Amino acid sequence: MGVSVLSTLGVKSVDFMAPGRGGVPSLTRSDVAAAMAGGLSEPAQCLAYFLFTGEVRAELALAHHIRSAIIANNPDMDSRIADGLTRSVMAESFDHSRCRACRGSGQIVSKVPLNTSDTHGAGVFLSERRELMTCDRCDGHGVSQWTAFKRAKMAGMNERSFTRLYSAARAAGARSVRAWMGELTSHLTQRLQGQDD
Ligand SMILES: [Zn+2]
Repeated sequence: MGVSVLSTLGVKSVDFMAPGRGGVPSLTRSDVAAAMAGGLSEPAQCLAYFLFTGEVRAELALAHHIRSAIIANNPDMDSRIADGLTRSVMAESFDHSRCRACRGSGQIVSKVPLNTSDTHGAGVFLSERRELMTCDRCDGHGVSQWTAFKRAKMAGMNERSFTRLYSAARAAGARSVRAWMGELTSHLTQRLQGQDD
């Protein structure tokens, strides 16, 4: 199985990471292991296991890596604060709620005005063209961006202390998740393309 399983699931591009796809239950740990074999950092492997299997132990392992990235940014922080920030990053990264502006598609239909034409006495005719544009509310990700208030609340602290003391550390954790996601995505894309050719 392995890569072919992913391939039959339509896993052919970065889209497999689209919000809401996390945890494909039909894949076992060994399927994923086969698909992931070689070249991935340990955090990216944990991420893959978590996304494909949704297993609790994969989630814990991933959380551990995120927590380490947060603490590396701010080594003096209290351990409960680190736990809260980790929870906050996990939730924003994986419990996606769809962007309301584009309903999760990442695209919005934009009306582009065309030249007005003078219709010789019958008034000015206004026309417009409709175009798909990247949603600027979510930057095309289709996922609602959290406010500082929500990030702080999920971490169990108020917005003021969050912004003043911990937002940089949390951002380091979130950045790590994005980096592992990028690593995993390009790794999988390469393997799947290799198989298709
Ligand atoms: Zn959007």
